[in-house]
Amino acid sequence: MQKIGLFGGTFDPVHYGHLAVGKAALEQLDLDSLIFIPAPSPPHKQSDKITPFYHRLAMLELAIGEDHGFSVSPIEAELQGLSYTIDTLTILRRRFKGDVTFFYVIGLDAFAEISTWKQYQLLLSEVSFVVIDRPSHDNKTCEEIVCTELHGYSASGEGCWRNENGSTVYRLVMDPVAVSSTEIRELLRNGKAVEEMVPPAVIEYIQAKSLYARDIL
Ligand code: ATP
Repeated sequence: MQKIGLFGGTFDPVHYGHLAVGKAALEQLDLDSLIFIPAPSPPHKQSDKITPFYHRLAMLELAIGEDHGFSVSPIEAELQGLSYTIDTLTILRRRFKGDVTFFYVIGLDAFAEISTWKQYQLLLSEVSFVVIDRPSHDNKTCEEIVCTELHGYSASGEGCWRNENGSTVYRLVMDPVAVSSTEIRELLRNGKAVEEMVPPAVIEYIQAKSLYARDIL
């Protein structure tokens, strides 16, 4: 049985925070691989402000380079309309033919919104969630979200909650990387350096394609 991590997001652009999260998930959960899955049309973001999908995909490919544990999938380009994770999972299940356990990797800020996701209860029962600490707007902890906003979960060891159907949420501990794509776009718009936040190959791509320049945003 393979253990595959799924890391969805907008990745506009990908940064060292994303890569650190991916690495921590791979190592701490002993995953066989981790797939970055950029969303063409993320339901929670305004689509006219997002960089075209093919650029975000290309930057991810450059960011992971030759790292063998990581891959990037354009699978959500196959979805019609908004990119809902439950629909992505349906395609992935067909493709992997059941011989796999999926772990959905997510930052705490995004997990805090989980009850607004399409068919989130079904999603929670289909994959284990792996939640990484990151300040969320109301500063709720992972435990508060699991125990007050989701149904039927109870603690099952340190940083792990399970419900009666066997759905599991893990809290993943790693040194925080205080960086966001929003901050990077803002810095680039103001002509500031982002070397400490973004891999060199991605910076070269951003410059070559004139992404995030003042007149574009
Ligand atoms: P933006 O600032 O545009 O909202 P972002 O930096 O949050 O972007 P996304 O692509 O939206 O990046 O995030 C994808 C996933 O990665 C989400 O689950 C998010 O919580 C998580 N994530 C992003 N940056 C970090 C970070 N620095 N530490 C932990 N998790 C992160």
